[in-house]
Amino acid sequence: MLATASTQLSPRRRDLDFQLYEVLDFEKILALARFAEHDRATADAIIDTAYDIAGDYFAPLAAELDAFPYRLENGDVATPARLKPALDALIEAGFLAASFAEEDGGLQLPSVLTMAVGVVFNAANGSAFGYGWLTVGAAHLLAAFANDEQRERWMAPMIAGRYFGTMALSEPQAGSSLGDITTKAEPAPDGSYRLTGTKMWISAAEHDLSENIVNLVLAKIPGGPPGVKGISLFIVPKYTLDAHGDPQARNDAVVTGLNHKLGQRGIVNTVLTLGERGECVGYLVGAPHDGMRQMFHMMNEARVAVGAGAVALNLAAYEYALQYAKDRPQGRSLGDKNPLAPQVAIVDHADVRAMLLRQKAIAEGGLGLVMYCASLVDESSAAASAAERDDAAFLLDVLTPVAKTWPSEHGIESTSLAIQVLGGYGYSPEYPVERYFRDQRLNPIHEGTTGIQGLDLLGRKLRLKDGAGLRLLLARIESELVAARPVPALAEEVARLGVARDTLVRVTKTLLDAQVKLGPERALAESTAYLDAFGTVVVAWRWLVQAHRAAVAPPDDFYAGKLAACRYFYRYILSDAEAILNRLEHLDDLVFSVTPAML
Ligand SMILES: Cc1cc2nc3c(=O)[nH]c(=O)nc-3n(C[C@H](O)[C@H](O)[C@H](O)COP(=O)(O)OP(=O)(O)OC[C@H]3O[C@@H](n4cnc5c(N)ncnc54)[C@H](O)[C@@H]3O)c2cc1C
Repeated sequence: MLATASTQLSPRRRDLDFQLYEVLDFEKILALARFAEHDRATADAIIDTAYDIAGDYFAPLAAELDAFPYRLENGDVATPARLKPALDALIEAGFLAASFAEEDGGLQLPSVLTMAVGVVFNAANGSAFGYGWLTVGAAHLLAAFANDEQRERWMAPMIAGRYFGTMALSEPQAGSSLGDITTKAEPAPDGSYRLTGTKMWISAAEHDLSENIVNLVLAKIPGGPPGVKGISLFIVPKYTLDAHGDPQARNDAVVTGLNHKLGQRGIVNTVLTLGERGECVGYLVGAPHDGMRQMFHMMNEARVAVGAGAVALNLAAYEYALQYAKDRPQGRSLGDKNPLAPQVAIVDHADVRAMLLRQKAIAEGGLGLVMYCASLVDESSAAASAAERDDAAFLLDVLTPVAKTWPSEHGIESTSLAIQVLGGYGYSPEYPVERYFRDQRLNPIHEGTTGIQGLDLLGRKLRLKDGAGLRLLLARIESELVAARPVPALAEEVARLGVARDTLVRVTKTLLDAQVKLGPERALAESTAYLDAFGTVVVAWRWLVQAHRAAVAPPDDFYAGKLAACRYFYRYILSDAEAILNRLEHLDDLVFSVTPAML
């Protein structure tokens, strides 16, 4: 007998509720003045609606969208018929407007809630949801930096779901190193700009899903400073608008090629050519040469969102594999010598349970991390005092490369384990886990590769404000250690986290000192490994918080599972981080000393 595919949506509702109401004090966030319009009942109803739309529209479309053969015909890209109704349902329910201020036409919902909803949609169909979240991210940037006219003409229709957005940074020769972009923006007499250049890898720059497409493009105004300091940000629409705000002429921002890819195939990816055949009109956002700072506003948000997308895939893969393992009969218990005895489900084999427990430790640990980051977004914008808002912003800054990278990198392993649990069926497109694995592979690459995140953490973030973000992190870890210490069931975790935290502090000091004494090349040679170990310590802390709530709750299988996954994390995953930190502490120079000729 084959196991049947599960139709249950991920994440399990109890997991979300546990994060919201037991791990994070969501009701305290809802009590902040900014969110006064909302309460637990409305929040729960919003999550119910997300599950309904995800179940009715997004999940049933996921396999079809993944296999859809996007084609470029005369500069146009058609999308599958069932995609627009799914996005319309998202828009009509208010999910694109959810996070925006009421005065901008938004619902002013807390980030913790929009994060929970985002995980539901990403687990159901991340490619379809991608069209929406790119639009939200681009509109957030305009909310922060655009002038009143631009907000009215471009941002308002995006929040209403009439226009969709993109972020157009990368070029064929400039991905990680954006200072080397060559797209040019020349001033025109009417105050607008004319752009020329080629943008590479741009998601959703052509489709038939919205009335207009608002590309946010990085370009250089001639005569500006070299490198990133000379980058400016432009609104480059698919259609320019007339004086009444109605779409006018097609702008010369044209998709000239499609990029085909391993995963996340359901969202079209393009080569966007600017000003090759006619005039590509662009409108400067904010001041000239301020583009990188503005784009980082979007990228920081997008990086946490990438982490959340990775978490969603990990949860979907884990929960699918778990259900399959309960349904799939194969083999007998090791002690049963009777070949005619009924077979057991594969979940009864300890090795399968070990794979599932590892997935659970990674997936639910990552969920705890990104939900915590969302709570910092809320604190940084809405906490009562300026000091609380600043603290949350500093800590979020340090945790952003971790939130982006940890679930993405560990997700490659955990989604791969889901394939392993399904065996040969896992390797077949009849089952969704191979898609989760392919989709996950993008997350360590886009929005800044893992290598770039490591440099960002160790080479920049830990030094900002004289290390304020790191000090806050250490203080928050310490306060959880103090709180959990009296709980006997957590003695092992409390002891191990204390040791790991102390080792992390020592290694961090060694590496920061080495940046001064030995230079950045040597000291940052293993910043990716450092980021991984740092991230594992952070997730261990968030696991301790989860286990603490579980340890003091009335016992049941759910809480017992949390305690087991936390213990697994400490014994099997935190130990890997300890090994990395021990190596880094001795400033091992093997990687640094290998020359290209030796490879
Ligand atoms: C499916 C997909 C969707 C995308 N969507 C968008 C989008 O919508 N908009 C957009 O603007 N871009 C998008 N991108 C581009 C993406 O952000 C880039 O691919 C990414 O930033 C890496 O750039 P690159 O591909 O040029 O690789 P490179 O920058 O050439 O990097 C290659 C390798 O070298 C390493 N490396 C590079 N520089 C350094 C350094 N200084 N130190 C250490 N290591 C380094 C990297 O870590 C990486 O491992 C997308 C990419 C893909 C694949």
